[in-house]
Amino acid sequence: MTTPETKILLSEAEMPRRWYNIVPDLPSPPPPVLHPGTLQPVGPQDLAPLFPMALIQQEVTTEPYVAIPEEVLDVYRLWRPSPLYRAHRLEKALGTPAKIYYKYEGVSPAGSHKPNTAVPQAFYNAQAGVRRLTTETGAGQWGTALAFACAQFGLACEVWQVRASYDQKPYRKMMIETFGGTVHPSPSEPTEAGRAILAADPDSPGSLGIAISEAVEVAAQHPDTNYALGSVLNHVLLHQTIIGEEALAQLAKVDAVPDVIVGCTGGGSNFAGLAFPFLREKLAGRMSPVIRAVEPASCPSLTKGVYAYDFGDTAGMTPLMKMHTLGHDFIPDPIHAGGLRYHGMSPLISHVYELGLIEAVAKSQKECFEAGVTFARSEGIIPAPEPTHALAACVEEALRCRETGEEKTILTALCGHGLLDLPAYGKFLGGEMEDHELSGEAIAAAMAALPRV
Ligand SMILES: *Cc1c(COP(=O)(O)O)cnc(C)c1O
Repeated sequence: MTTPETKILLSEAEMPRRWYNIVPDLPSPPPPVLHPGTLQPVGPQDLAPLFPMALIQQEVTTEPYVAIPEEVLDVYRLWRPSPLYRAHRLEKALGTPAKIYYKYEGVSPAGSHKPNTAVPQAFYNAQAGVRRLTTETGAGQWGTALAFACAQFGLACEVWQVRASYDQKPYRKMMIETFGGTVHPSPSEPTEAGRAILAADPDSPGSLGIAISEAVEVAAQHPDTNYALGSVLNHVLLHQTIIGEEALAQLAKVDAVPDVIVGCTGGGSNFAGLAFPFLREKLAGRMSPVIRAVEPASCPSLTKGVYAYDFGDTAGMTPLMKMHTLGHDFIPDPIHAGGLRYHGMSPLISHVYELGLIEAVAKSQKECFEAGVTFARSEGIIPAPEPTHALAACVEEALRCRETGEEKTILTALCGHGLLDLPAYGKFLGGEMEDHELSGEAIAAAMAALPRV
């Protein structure tokens, strides 16, 4: 008997050459993005002050595939194709008959999946003659990825980092600066949006929504400057599908077909990147996995938010997107999974959820870290706090299989490592971590500010 493989690799020659767009394969298209003034669908020209035309086209394309430019493939080769692991040791630790596979994105320069989209975004902006990109970052993963990508194509990079994370995770700032970027804690004095928040609350912990307002404001004011978003938008989800395309090819090598796919969702990009190519297969009748999004109990946009038109940022400067939202001025508790602290969910994932094509669950912080520690002790990788949410759902499913004896195949994305998040593990191991229960009143208060459409 041969030992089943642990690490399933693809060669550079086997790396996918195109990204997958799920929109044309869905039974109905997602609702349009609206101009906040006219409430009419936005056109390419409305987005042109912030994004290059190549990305705007990808945002609205109805083509099922988009070719990955050679220049982008060249940078991807630094860490792609990424490995797919069979978690033999985790399975053993859990005593489960389930087979658990994880696609590991922590091998990238930033230590997460974020460079998969940062690199093409920097490339298309450089090609359009843009000189500087502004952006927000939560835990710092996206800022790190964009700073790295900008360095590849000669662009300046300016990052607004959510204050709570800026204080909790100083090494991310150093990484961004090492890659050549600059970092402001958000809310910040240099922007009108930041000054307004600070005037109301000088100790504001910040939020992704506020940081987006600041970065968008600066990009909109300077012709040589564009804005880059690390999640939520269609073109970001598109770029991340290289994760799922690789995973499909890797599972095929070992004749495995997933029964359950789980992923953590902040804005939804790593989840969509892993799941959408498998959803294509499901819609075509070639497999039938259950696909489950996992979000934090303290920021449950899919499971407790409403499906409504809302702004992507706090100040209300972005177009209106129909999405699952907790309200654009909702400020989540400062949990350690900074990358999941976003008030909304990607419009495309929200739409797919409304169509009943995916499920969603919420997990509390301590259960997630417990799964993260179990994973670290068995598999040897310390996960970022965000994917511990996916791992908690994997563990739950694997333990269910232990009860029923089912030999399900479970697939997840380990979308980042936690080597710069060790203080959070220190708190968990020291018994100092708290679970934040989100009150119904807090949600209701935030919902009151939803725009009337
Ligand atoms: C940014 C980030 C997330 C959340 O973003 P998604 O778009 O939902 O993937 C999750 N995990 C890690 C490691 C991140 O850096």
